[in-house]
Amino acid sequence: MNICVIGVGYVGLVAGTCFAEYGNEVICVDVDDEKIKKLKQGIVPFYEPGLEELLHRNVKENRLFFTSNLKDGVENSSIIFIAVGTPEHEDGSADLQYVLAVAKQIAHAMNGFKIIVNKSTVPVGTAEKVKEVLNNEGAHNFEVVSNPEFLKEGAAIEDFMRPERVVIGCESNKVREIMRDLYSDFMKRKNRITFMDNRSAELSKYACNAFLATKISFVNEIANLCEKLNTNYAHIREVMGSDSRIGNQFLYAGVGYGGSCFPKDVRALLKTSVENDHPLQILDIVDKINDSQKLILFNKIYTYFNGNLKDKLIGIWGLAFKPGTDDMREAPSIVIIKKLLEEGAKIKVFDPEALKVAKSIFENKIEYVTSIYQAVQGVDALALITEWREFRHPDFNKIKNTMKQAVIFDGRNQYNPLKMKELGFTYFGIGFQPL
Ligand code: NAD
Repeated sequence: MNICVIGVGYVGLVAGTCFAEYGNEVICVDVDDEKIKKLKQGIVPFYEPGLEELLHRNVKENRLFFTSNLKDGVENSSIIFIAVGTPEHEDGSADLQYVLAVAKQIAHAMNGFKIIVNKSTVPVGTAEKVKEVLNNEGAHNFEVVSNPEFLKEGAAIEDFMRPERVVIGCESNKVREIMRDLYSDFMKRKNRITFMDNRSAELSKYACNAFLATKISFVNEIANLCEKLNTNYAHIREVMGSDSRIGNQFLYAGVGYGGSCFPKDVRALLKTSVENDHPLQILDIVDKINDSQKLILFNKIYTYFNGNLKDKLIGIWGLAFKPGTDDMREAPSIVIIKKLLEEGAKIKVFDPEALKVAKSIFENKIEYVTSIYQAVQGVDALALITEWREFRHPDFNKIKNTMKQAVIFDGRNQYNPLKMKELGFTYFGIGFQPL
């Protein structure tokens, strides 16, 4: 099939590359000329495991193309994916300006029947709005499909190639069969395509993200209570996770959720619910809990140093909002570092992938180092914020000898508290009292 993907961010570039991998001809379009220039040189503008290799192969095979000329992409494709950002307005609602601007541009570029697929996360009713724009701009011969994306950054290729489900909201049988055909390659082992109306497809994405965010805020609340009750959340998690009705994923206590999806999607769904006279009160609390959870590690550090962080040197391991990505959108690390700086602390950071992004945020306000050991040299404390695999088994003796004080604040509960004590560390985590 001939496919055009508009917006080559984390979602669009992965989707386009994976469609090309199954032999489709894919034209990726973006307004960001710099991005397109890089992609044409084979440079992936962000970090996603496995993406670069897949992209190179498909470019070489002449199945994957990049352009900033939307007209070219639209004219030469029968299916057009919209995968642009849907950031947050100040009032929490989703900002649809990019989606609707693209719809307008598509209308002007159309040269026949097109299936226009919305892959961005958009509120209920957006397919109708896109249709309206297309009609107002004189387009005819199109169908709008809602196909929300469920991939996870850090595992995006695997998620796209072997999805747990593909949601398609569409109207006609003809388009349904074309979409079924397009996704059939990704369903080799089991059919996981669910067809529905556009509005339900749009809501399904928000419902999933809002539920996952709720799970995180709930377990963080329980973990915080564990500290007050002098119990250990690790045990509670084990018991909760053994209940198949609860499930054992997303039960880890930590420093709150971040990223480009959960925070904005929770707030957008809350806004939709309020506007429709059915406020999802639970989401208001989920969001508030998450905001305060992002401060938990800072509060522990502040308390440990008796409220005096002036000139204390704090080493930070992990900046990305989760492992496997360089994405720092709404990352807890940003909140924690800003608070530490406000209190006069000095900061030294290491992250395997996100240093470049961090530099664009903190510029010369903090020090950037390129190894876990440099990040602990001479520090008064270490704070672990993102659970990258390479932090799991460091040489703790080496670390202890180079730190000024052997104190670790672990925002992801990566180590055994008893072992840390035996190694001579004062070790703080989430959901238990230090031993
Ligand atoms: P992103 O910010 O990484 O990428 C968006 C891209 O769209 C940018 O490259 C931007 O330059 C481009 N763009 C904006 N306006 C354009 C226009 N008029 N024409 C062409 N290109 C344009 O965003 P993302 O993280 O890939 O997310 C895209 C959508 O997918 C959002 O709605 C998001 O909520 C959703 N989503 C994201 C994830 C994720 O993990 N990142 C997962 C599932 C769904």
